[in-house]
Amino acid sequence: MSDRCVDSKKTARMNSILHYLKKNKIIHYHNEEIKPYITMKIGGRVKLIVIIKRNEDLKALGLKILERDSPYILIGGGSNVIFSDEYSPIIVIINRTPDIKQYDNHTIQVNSGVTNQSLMNWCIKNNISGLEFLAGIPGSIGGAAAVNAGAFGKSVSDILKYAEIIDEKGHIQQVPNLFFQYGYRYSIFKTGKKILLNIFLNCRQSNRSQILTRVNTNLKYRKENHPSYSHFTAGCFFKNPLINNQRISAGKIMERSHLKGKHFYNLWISDKHANFIINKGKAGFHDLCNMEKEICEAVFQKNNVLLEREVIYISPDGKKIRMGICQINCFFKLSKK
Ligand SMILES: Cc1cc2nc3c(=O)[nH]c(=O)nc-3n(C[C@H](O)[C@H](O)[C@H](O)COP(=O)(O)OP(=O)(O)OC[C@H]3O[C@@H](n4cnc5c(N)ncnc54)[C@H](O)[C@@H]3O)c2cc1C
Repeated sequence: MSDRCVDSKKTARMNSILHYLKKNKIIHYHNEEIKPYITMKIGGRVKLIVIIKRNEDLKALGLKILERDSPYILIGGGSNVIFSDEYSPIIVIINRTPDIKQYDNHTIQVNSGVTNQSLMNWCIKNNISGLEFLAGIPGSIGGAAAVNAGAFGKSVSDILKYAEIIDEKGHIQQVPNLFFQYGYRYSIFKTGKKILLNIFLNCRQSNRSQILTRVNTNLKYRKENHPSYSHFTAGCFFKNPLINNQRISAGKIMERSHLKGKHFYNLWISDKHANFIINKGKAGFHDLCNMEKEICEAVFQKNNVLLEREVIYISPDGKKIRMGICQINCFFKLSKK
């Protein structure tokens, strides 16, 4: 197919999506910077940003985009993703679908765009327990289910029963917990293109004051041990590595490698928790990549540990990249030993 033919197909595809957005009064912005929607405030302009506030719109738009094979990425709170500084000719869907309801005595049904914070408030109001570990984790429940977010020894994989999804072929299905292939901070949704629409979570009725106590204890721990939420971060940047079958704190290993509190480029390794990398305001994607490389090399040299990034990088064509150059460099050194 000639380049002109490919271009006119792409234009027709985009026009049909734009027509749909306008017709359904869905908020969208052309050629806007993505960084305001990302907690680390890094990332360049993207072709189209769409803000979705109704589950029917997420379903319909998801089907339309998948049907037309348009390059896209779906995000929730943007607290575990970083975009490159280059222009990305893709559609970024920002999911803010809001509904939560009691499905049966032991299950709640949550739209994937509901923030963990709203979910927590709803649970407190309705005396629902079992989700307190999510208190203070920024972002949406869809994002949390996709990356298997967790804290205090519990993660989403422990409470997710099943989910309503759209697969890559545009089929709407209900899939069980096993379908996610959950691992530590991993599911197949973290890297793939499938869309989570609704999440069904295990829960139980409990006493409101006990729920509140657990939520407040967790929030207090975060306040005392993590940098302030007003900083631009993506939470823990690296996964806790598995050493002798045990997860060891990446922050502690970075501390042992004398990295805590260091300033590199326009970034800062928090002096409260070394696994929190803070954008001082002007950092770009290149600064972050350079810093990641230096951290990985320092940790590898001083502690012989290979750190793996937890945060996902999004390439300009909308691909999710898990492993960084620094890790490949370290592997290279390892294999030469
Ligand atoms: C201050 C701070 C503290 C943090 N503390 C923790 C912590 O204690 N534990 C922890 O695990 N994480 C923590 N994080 C990281 C982050 O908040 C979590 O991983 C969060 O669950 C990500 O949700 P999100 O909606 O922001 O996801 P996003 O960053 O928007 O997306 C993450 C991934 O999920 C995919 N995704 C999002 N929504 C959907 C959907 N509906 N369907 C399919 N795929 C989807 C995206 O495509 C992407 O691959 C922290 C971050 C910050 C900034």
